[in-house]
Amino acid sequence: MLGWKLLFHIGNFSRLEVWSRQPKADSSLDGRGEWGSVFARIYRHEKDMATQIVRREEEVATLIAAGQALTDGVVLLDENYQIIFCNTTAEMQLGLVIHSDRGQPIINLVRQPEFVDYLQAGDFSRPLTMRFERNEDRVLSIHVLPYSDSRRLMQVKDVTQTDRLDRMRRDFVANVSHELRTPLTVLSGFLETLQEFEVDRDERSRYLALMSEQSSRMLSIVQDLLTLSSIESAPPPDTEPVDMISLLDKLRRDAEALSAGRHSIVVESDGQGDLRGSEPELVSAFTNLVANAVRYTPAGGTIRLSWKAGLQGAEFAVQDTGIGIDSKHIPRLTERFYRVDRGRSRDAGGTGLGLAIVKHSLSRHQAQLEIKSTPGVGSRFAAKFPASRVAGIQ
Ligand code: ADP
Repeated sequence: MLGWKLLFHIGNFSRLEVWSRQPKADSSLDGRGEWGSVFARIYRHEKDMATQIVRREEEVATLIAAGQALTDGVVLLDENYQIIFCNTTAEMQLGLVIHSDRGQPIINLVRQPEFVDYLQAGDFSRPLTMRFERNEDRVLSIHVLPYSDSRRLMQVKDVTQTDRLDRMRRDFVANVSHELRTPLTVLSGFLETLQEFEVDRDERSRYLALMSEQSSRMLSIVQDLLTLSSIESAPPPDTEPVDMISLLDKLRRDAEALSAGRHSIVVESDGQGDLRGSEPELVSAFTNLVANAVRYTPAGGTIRLSWKAGLQGAEFAVQDTGIGIDSKHIPRLTERFYRVDRGRSRDAGGTGLGLAIVKHSLSRHQAQLEIKSTPGVGSRFAAKFPASRVAGIQ
């Protein structure tokens, strides 16, 4: 009897021993008598553990998925700045590959000196902003946050766009100040001369003429700036049709007035179709193109205004036989205050803002500005409108 009992225990024990080498929460652990309830408890415990592990794995997977969904880069580092985890955004931003780079010190992989210095200095009260050496077009802002004692979470933001806007704003303020300072310096110089010295009548009227020229120049700059800012802050333009026949007529009269008989002005249009949009913005854009054609075409030249509308869209163009533009300048012409020849633009009454106004008004009408030019031969500026902006075409 005792022998049988002993055999029974040894048998169950050896099954437990075998099972424990590769424990599985399944019915492979089966026993009878008091061993049955022991095995059942072990089995339940194993099953709970397995469920908990699955749940934990799911939680970790959800956390990783959340980390992957972040638009900012995230890198988790241990106390030696070795990579524990990084999301796909950080992989792209910093050129990391998590599968092979896990466990590597990040400064062995991102070796840019300011980054290495920033990590080694260990003062993370401020983020590090750096232009990334491996991709010069990108500007990254790196923030390191300590967590869980000695670990660090590194957050990487791509601030390229904000940096560009900041730079544009700074350049713009510098440009405006520079543009206004020049005429103001001339004005105040003449004022001082008139106040301090006796000048004869002729001299005085010459000074006054120059002063009036400078103040008109400042006025033009301020007017163009106001036009730009009102276009920028205006609601999207109307879709009411603007009568192109009377608009072309007005542009022709403006061109003739500006040219004062120095050029021949030609209008080419079959009178078909109108534009849907804001009349003041279209007038402002087209007048700037016409004024430039007059400004940069020597006397005796021809300025051709053309309008063509069809089912596919419409085109308003101004073609001149003027000085033309070297192709290297063309991509930059619509930048604020960009001029090919500053002196020539100034002498001709330009502000350097005309084409910026044109581009802005056109883009609000979903139109493109196409510039073709040959130095010494002439230029063609064409505003191309999509079909949605054209009215009155069957
Ligand atoms: P500006 O007030 O100086 O004319 P714009 O923004 O209207 O400024 O034009 C920018 C520059 O583009 C001008 O300074 C000039 O160098 C060049 N440009 C514009 N239109 C013409 C044209 N029709 N022919 C030659 N150059 C032109």
